[in-house]
Amino acid sequence: MKPASGRRTALVTGANRGIGLAVARALVEREFDVLLGSRDAAAGAEAAASIGRGTRAVQLDVANPDSIARIVRDEPQVDVLVNNAGIYPEGDIFDAPTSAFREAMEVHFFGVLALCRAFVPQMMQAGWGRVVNVSSGYGSVGEGLEGPAAYSLSKAALGALTIKLAASVRGDVKVNAACPGWVRTRMGGAGAHRSVEKGAETIVWLATLPADGPHGGFFRDRKPIPW
Ligand code: NDP
Repeated sequence: MKPASGRRTALVTGANRGIGLAVARALVEREFDVLLGSRDAAAGAEAAASIGRGTRAVQLDVANPDSIARIVRDEPQVDVLVNNAGIYPEGDIFDAPTSAFREAMEVHFFGVLALCRAFVPQMMQAGWGRVVNVSSGYGSVGEGLEGPAAYSLSKAALGALTIKLAASVRGDVKVNAACPGWVRTRMGGAGAHRSVEKGAETIVWLATLPADGPHGGFFRDRKPIPW
């Protein structure tokens, strides 16, 4: 069911640049009201202005419980939650500092867990919702958990969270994970072969799924990939 306003609200984390900004833009084009999450308020305002109508910047540091508490208090309605914010700590399992594992878990797991625990019960109550957890092939056990250790392990934890959450929801609430592929952003680097628009495609598809769409899966280019 659509809200009385006829428009649904989407929250995209880490949307001041990169894939998140492309997702925010695409959801505005699809007539969502988009809350553009940015840990830096000025960067968020600038990004929202680059999109124009239909979007509003919200300060949100997903690694900061106070920042999460504030957005939960201030935003009563989130119908679509795109957990996109990400960091890329370098180092293998022996040389990365323990702090890198903790930071990656804060951003890719605990922040996502807190936002899901806050907003998904509302979605179930409303009878409709979509959650997209932006993961990576590096977080796929089936694809070998390649990439830096703190990054891949925290993204694998995000995958497990996606499975657990998907099994816990009811109503037309869909929970899925996406790998955007290798995308030209600050994280992906200039050599990546995908544009941000291409990287956003599967995420936007999952954020706007119809009632008979998939649930509890992990997708790249709209096709299932192994957890
Ligand atoms: P970018 O580095 O370009 O952007 C990352 C975004 O996350 C920025 O907006 C950044 O904010 C934000 N962010 C980081 N930490 C936090 C935090 N604590 N709270 C809020 N926002 C935060 O990365 P991409 O756009 O490439 O990545 C987007 C997602 O896609 C990530 O989850 C990434 O892991 C995933 N991905 C990307 C791939 C690629 O090739 N690019 C491949 C596979 C997965 P700020 O500007 O303040 O730093």
